[in-house]
Amino acid sequence: MPTETKTASHYVEKPQTLAALREGIAAGRVKAVDLAHAYYARIDAKNPALNVYLSATRERALAQAARIDELAAKGDPLPALAGAPMGIKDVLVMQGAPSTAGSKMLKGYEPPYDCTAVTRLEAAGAVLLGKVNCDEFAMGSSNENSAYGPVRNPVDTERVPGGSSGGSAAAVAANLAVATLGTDTGGSIRQPASFCGVVGVLPTWGRVSRYGLIAFASSLDRIGPFAGNVRDAATVLGAIAGHDTKDATSSAAPVEDYAAESDKPAAGLRIGVPEEYFSEGLDAEVRAAIEKGIAALEAAGCAVKKISLPHTKYAVPTYYLAATAEASANLARFDGVRYGYRSARAGTLAEMYSRSRDEGFGAEVKRRIFLGTYALSAGYYDAYYRKAQQVRRILAEEFLRAFAEVDAIVTPTSPFPAFRIREKTGDPLSMYLADIYTVTASLAGICGVTTPCGTTQAGLPVGMQVLARHMGESTAFRVARAVESAEI
Ligand code: GLN
Repeated sequence: MPTETKTASHYVEKPQTLAALREGIAAGRVKAVDLAHAYYARIDAKNPALNVYLSATRERALAQAARIDELAAKGDPLPALAGAPMGIKDVLVMQGAPSTAGSKMLKGYEPPYDCTAVTRLEAAGAVLLGKVNCDEFAMGSSNENSAYGPVRNPVDTERVPGGSSGGSAAAVAANLAVATLGTDTGGSIRQPASFCGVVGVLPTWGRVSRYGLIAFASSLDRIGPFAGNVRDAATVLGAIAGHDTKDATSSAAPVEDYAAESDKPAAGLRIGVPEEYFSEGLDAEVRAAIEKGIAALEAAGCAVKKISLPHTKYAVPTYYLAATAEASANLARFDGVRYGYRSARAGTLAEMYSRSRDEGFGAEVKRRIFLGTYALSAGYYDAYYRKAQQVRRILAEEFLRAFAEVDAIVTPTSPFPAFRIREKTGDPLSMYLADIYTVTASLAGICGVTTPCGTTQAGLPVGMQVLARHMGESTAFRVARAVESAEI
């Protein structure tokens, strides 16, 4: 094996931080091109068992890696993500690359443009290896709703990686990418990150442009990073955050240096522990792990106090009304006319619409279109959709009141660790109820980070969710760093 390839495979076998990769490339110890090849070799070896990558963007990745190597050869300063091999959730479009959103409806669809987050990652030097698997249109909590088969959890391949960004979480956990992008509408970054033992970030709604995200529920959808450690996740967020003229809802608030902010100690921060997140339904081992995490925060000099968020119990029904209502409207565009799947069995125009949608969408997506259409229908709008919007406001105000007293709120990310494949597929309601700890922050628009916080006796990862107020990402990162460095 030539020495360059050996160095690159060493970098792959021992996952490196973004900073270490960048320094290695800058110092000429490893070439970005060799690194990309080494990652592809690892993907070729491991993907058949894990089903993480749906497609590879090899040419584009290698051209980008060559650009980084040229910069390094000239001695030019390298951008923050220089040479970082990354994977992109399949709901984020990349020009000319298949972007299916995990759906048969978009099989073979090659978008004519790039998502802004993708453009920004490449501007920051990242090498995008390919598109990763997810639940169909990001609807699900286990990745079992993908039309392309479930992703397996690298920690235990009999278990789900979580969802909907299961591929993004599993890619980092199996080191098939140094970092990835996912999306979170009701927990889809945080829950899979916690199931796979990696870090996941829910940015404030509006912090990251949604241009080029195949929409699920626009008032809830967010794009965010996964990484192997908090600092790297902060670095990736810094690269993708900020105003974008192509998304009028993206915030103009200045982008902080999240990585540098995450280096600041958490001592002195006030941490709230909401009692509603520690009641019935919480697995005993998850509770014990999170309690250790809270003790570690106290030891790090945080002031921990109990708080109450009494409307938490209404969050799941509120979320499943708001999200499905928006989904039913967003998914109306898939009509078999302009792009995506078209039924071959249609005689009339009406049949073309209905058969294309019937054959193109999976069962969970259809269930949500029905639910959402019902919630928005003339006779039920006030009882369901309007009521959900009102409860949503109350939940958001409850968080704002809490954040007048504390800087961050910590909770378990999921009531239990990764469950077995097919364990919950027959019971959609129990799958929905599992989102109890994540949908609240989604509805409120606030930000959060999930970071590994111990394991169960069976070795399954537990994640701690750290929530902070709107645009409070730096605070969430600081708290997450303190939990990470306690090595629970
Ligand atoms: N599990 C939730 C759902 O199925 C969240 C999905 C998401 O955040 N995209 O809707």
